[in-house]
Amino acid sequence: MRKINWLNTFFLTATPILGISGTIWLIMHDAVAWQTVIFTVILSFATGFGVTAGYHRLFSHQTYTAHWSVRLFFALIGLASFEGSILEWCADHRRHHRFVDTNKDPYNINQGFWYAHIGWLLVNDPTKRNFSNVTDLQNDPIVAFQHKFNIPISILVGIIMPMLVCSLWSDVIGGFFIAAMLRVTLAQHFTFCINSVCHFFGHKTYSEKLTARDNWFTALFTFGEGFHNFHHQFPNDFRNGIRYFHYDPTKWLIFGLSKLGLTWNLKRVELKQIVSARINYFEKWFSVRESCAKTASYYSKFFSPARGKTLSILMTLEQTAKAYQQFKDKKLAQNKYVHSYRLRKRIYRMYLKRQQKALAESMTQLSRITKRCPV
Ligand SMILES: [Zn+2]
Ligand SMILES: [Zn+2]
Repeated sequence: MRKINWLNTFFLTATPILGISGTIWLIMHDAVAWQTVIFTVILSFATGFGVTAGYHRLFSHQTYTAHWSVRLFFALIGLASFEGSILEWCADHRRHHRFVDTNKDPYNINQGFWYAHIGWLLVNDPTKRNFSNVTDLQNDPIVAFQHKFNIPISILVGIIMPMLVCSLWSDVIGGFFIAAMLRVTLAQHFTFCINSVCHFFGHKTYSEKLTARDNWFTALFTFGEGFHNFHHQFPNDFRNGIRYFHYDPTKWLIFGLSKLGLTWNLKRVELKQIVSARINYFEKWFSVRESCAKTASYYSKFFSPARGKTLSILMTLEQTAKAYQQFKDKKLAQNKYVHSYRLRKRIYRMYLKRQQKALAESMTQLSRITKRCPV
């Protein structure tokens, strides 16, 4: 029998009770200040990004490098979610990736939806947490400082700061109930959804053996973390939603900061690896059904040629991308033939765009063919 973590249990019970009942009480008394609502939304996004862009994609997976000011900002604002220090969060999260869906996974979905969502925190013994997988982070002075003063900073940025800001428009009570308690509740449960909902609802897009799933709906309130099957398959990519239309504001933030020179070395998995993983997924889907004669003939008649077409588009795209890179590296006559240089650059980009579009269409076609297979 596991021991209950009373501190976690008290906090995770008290914050929603105070946040929800306090907000309802304020609404019933028509005492909700619009400034408090706007501030709560802004702080929610900042806290969310502190966890997703900071704790998760920067500190846990090191998918990019960031200026010390960005790391410090994420380290401080991330604590406003009361999800523990970077060291604690990353030790659990790295273990989750390494031992996913096994008993060594701290939030193992196979122990039940609610266990993965919140139950694991109620029986979590912090004295038994093993930091052997975060030694690289222990050497970071910002991470070490944040870990040492975890609780006082959390109270300062998560409760006192929102109340002080809301006091500017004389709404300290709204600051406590809405900008602190309700926001903390939402921030925590949004993060918890990644461990529960994202391992329970949605599509397995790249790996059938993982419980992690891609789900655009969850991405809407997890700041883009909903594409979780891709993330588990390629945890070193700074993106979770790889298509331009995938709602992944964390990816856009990291990319935007790179344009300002505040982040760099953004890691992307090679397109070839992504396409191969997707094709492998389809192949496995057919392989478990190959005993059926109808499926086998459908596979060779429709899937096989479509796969060949996709791979040939991918090859052409890679060749064009390589030629474009070589062309850019040479910096051909940037001064003397500047017009010719720009024109050729434009042509390369046009070709690349067309081939990327063709590849995307071809992948969609493969998916359609798989779905329509008569099983
Ligand atoms: Zn996961
Ligand atoms: Zn992760």
